[in-house]
Amino acid sequence: MKRIPFRKSSSSRANVNREAGNLMAIGKTLPALRREAATCKACDLWKTGTQTVFGEGASPARIMFVGEQPGDQEDREGHPFVGPAGKILHSAMHDAGIDESEIYVTNVVKHFKWSPAERGKRRIHKKPRYSEIHACRPWLDAELRVVRPQVLVCLGASAAQSLLGKRFQCQPPARAIRRIIARPDRDGNSTSFVHFACTR
Ligand code: SF4
Repeated sequence: MKRIPFRKSSSSRANVNREAGNLMAIGKTLPALRREAATCKACDLWKTGTQTVFGEGASPARIMFVGEQPGDQEDREGHPFVGPAGKILHSAMHDAGIDESEIYVTNVVKHFKWSPAERGKRRIHKKPRYSEIHACRPWLDAELRVVRPQVLVCLGASAAQSLLGKRFQCQPPARAIRRIIARPDRDGNSTSFVHFACTR
């Protein structure tokens, strides 16, 4: 089976990605990728998250929605978009007439990053660092190879920056939501459309 190549380097970031890249092989199914991601330690977020929250949905899918990371409820249940943000997303899809049997939902970072509240037991969402987004990117790439969406919807700046680079900046929603970029798919022989719906 063809392995994702990696270059030798002494930098910690490269070591992190080498570890994630070593876990994956091209041609794996989603269940196989999900099983491997469950033991991923390519960045430190596995230490504080309850479990890896991998993507779910149709494969192939017409539309893939990509968020930033699982939230508190997703972390506990092990499924993406089952918390308050997920309810809004499902409601918006219903209003837009999107058939949920044709979509796949995932996050650019598969573990919940949080810090304890000053009072009480609440876990407060923390924005992932770019190094963590970068470390988790091989899992998103693997999902994209399998799911092959026609439309990729990035929910927020972290998702867009993971796919376009950290210099990407969200524009006001009214403009950003109409932004469509055509780009070749990973085989370079067809065109996928990336539609950025930035939320703040
Ligand atoms: S956040 Fe991603 S890269 Fe980091 S440990 Fe979890 S699955 Fe691995």
